[in-house]
Amino acid sequence: MAAAIEAKKIVQGGSFLIEERTPEEIFTPGDFNEEHRMIADTTRQFMDAEVQPRIGELENKDWKLARALVKSAADLGLVGANIPEEYGGLGLDQTSGAIIAENLGRSASFAATLGAQSGIGLLPIIYFGTEAAKQKYLPPIAAGDLVTAYALTEASSGSDAMAAKATARLSDDGKDYILNGEKMFITNGGFADIFIVFAKVDGDKFSAFIVERQEGCQSGAEEHKMGIKGSSTTPLILADARTPVENLLGEVGKGHKIAFNILNIGRFKLGAMCLGGMKLAMHESVRYANERQQFGKSISSFGAIKSKLGEMAIRTWVGEAMIYRTLGMIEEGLGAVADSKDMDARLKAIEEYAAECSIIKVALSEYCDYVTDEMVQIFGGYGYSADYPAERAYRDTRINRIFEGTNEINRMLIPGRLMKAALSGRLALLPAAQALMDEILSPSMASFDLDESLLATEQKLAQNAKKVALMTLGTAAQKYMMGLSDQQEILMSVADIIMDTFAMESAVLRARKMAAVQGEAAVALQLDMTRVFCNDAVERIEGDAKNTLAAMAEGDELRTLLAALRRFTKMTPMNTVAARQRIANAMIAANRYVY
Ligand SMILES: Cc1cc2nc3c(=O)[nH]c(=O)nc-3n(C[C@H](O)[C@H](O)[C@H](O)COP(=O)(O)OP(=O)(O)OC[C@H]3O[C@@H](n4cnc5c(N)ncnc54)[C@H](O)[C@@H]3O)c2cc1C
Repeated sequence: MAAAIEAKKIVQGGSFLIEERTPEEIFTPGDFNEEHRMIADTTRQFMDAEVQPRIGELENKDWKLARALVKSAADLGLVGANIPEEYGGLGLDQTSGAIIAENLGRSASFAATLGAQSGIGLLPIIYFGTEAAKQKYLPPIAAGDLVTAYALTEASSGSDAMAAKATARLSDDGKDYILNGEKMFITNGGFADIFIVFAKVDGDKFSAFIVERQEGCQSGAEEHKMGIKGSSTTPLILADARTPVENLLGEVGKGHKIAFNILNIGRFKLGAMCLGGMKLAMHESVRYANERQQFGKSISSFGAIKSKLGEMAIRTWVGEAMIYRTLGMIEEGLGAVADSKDMDARLKAIEEYAAECSIIKVALSEYCDYVTDEMVQIFGGYGYSADYPAERAYRDTRINRIFEGTNEINRMLIPGRLMKAALSGRLALLPAAQALMDEILSPSMASFDLDESLLATEQKLAQNAKKVALMTLGTAAQKYMMGLSDQQEILMSVADIIMDTFAMESAVLRARKMAAVQGEAAVALQLDMTRVFCNDAVERIEGDAKNTLAAMAEGDELRTLLAALRRFTKMTPMNTVAARQRIANAMIAANRYVY
């Protein structure tokens, strides 16, 4: 009975498209506990005091310093946060991991270094390692004495990771695997002590291993990169590298489970890192805009600059709402796992939110690119100069759209995961789409909406956005059926509609929750941000849906769908100009990002 009650509380992944949530049901930064706030402060202070002042040395490839900083971070618990206590970690929740990632994002290079150490280079051991491997490797990783790396990509297999050519074979005495091949773009490659290596046993069974640095395990030359120059990225050459059979992760031939599941965690952490980068970029943009005088005034007094600052803040705040809402769902899912040591069940609980993790990865990496691009513009010519922070921020953020699954791959995963859940019967998407089609074919007379509750208009817009998402996804599923996965242009647009829908609702719920606690007047600007975001999102959604529907239907069918789209996207435009000004003015007055 208790288990049944627990199970009821779990919000299903993807259900945001077909169910309504209340503000009380979602997790927001306002719900952080004392431990969360402490870990945020610790990470931020460490980054600002220890890492930021030394970024030049890191960019000059001082890997001794990088190692020392990994050690210092580990001493503060930043590496072992998500390592179970019995293996020398702190055993903190996933939210703490995301909060650490957010604050690491203040320096993208070191975020990549520590992100590999405490994320992709570590999690496969926690979730798939043998007991012997956990005991051997986790305590020194948590202590920062061993540096880790993750070696999946090869020169000819990136997105298509399963096409890897690296091989592994069992030694004649059955004690070791012997690995050969060449990996590419390995973060921490230049100085890592252990590598999570993906290779095919006997040339066809894709598997993963922990491999210690040794003679047969050589780093190639450092990549000359566009950004995150203060992180090491090298090839890894395996020439008869040996690793004991206890270092096999999971099962032979099941390496894909490791590669794909770990990425879900990697994706929400990457989103959180982008958020941290955006907050810092905002802060520096506001300060610069206040300091810089042109035409006898601070440039922050110009409407063109205010409009940028306002929009940058909106995307930062909405992105934050999406991340921590998802973390809340993940924590509830993990909380319902009966045996907290059952790693398989824990990973499944996280995988439930794979669509949300991909949404966060794509949305935040693109919001971050937007924010740093506008930062360069606000800095003008100095934005283009390497002596000012905008230039580095702009270059550093670009990689986020490429690694942890490119944004194209993640966009396709979003509707892909939802359809998979729908077809397996876990998510009632198809009946909802059918009911919507019935509504579209016989629309009821629009009722006069008297709802005057806070953000009622935006809530309605979000509800209608869900209908547009269902309508486009449902039409695509009906038209292409099993061939839907080949319709990439359609899937990418549907993904954009779904992302905006999730973002709109997350913003509405977060703002309402804040208003309930602090009162409406205290959160007037957050209400502004929500209203502007929803206003603009509906316009984007309408454009995406129009193009998608026109590509899938014609004649009467298209006319019917477009008529429904017009109903679902009907709104009275708001004064976004004045709202962005108010949002910017508060930051200009405080000389920092205030949301
Ligand atoms: C700085 C840096 C650090 C990295 N760190 C690591 C690391 O630590 N470990 C590691 O293993 N890897 C790492 N990578 C590799 C990274 O994960 C890959 O670069 C990424 O997965 C993309 O692979 P690719 O470069 O081969 O591009 P490709 O897969 O060749 O993609 C090229 C383009 O084609 C698109 N594309 C590919 N397939 C499809 C498809 N089916 N449908 C539609 N579009 C498609 C992509 O979206 C992209 O736009 C790193 C890369 C960089 C640059």
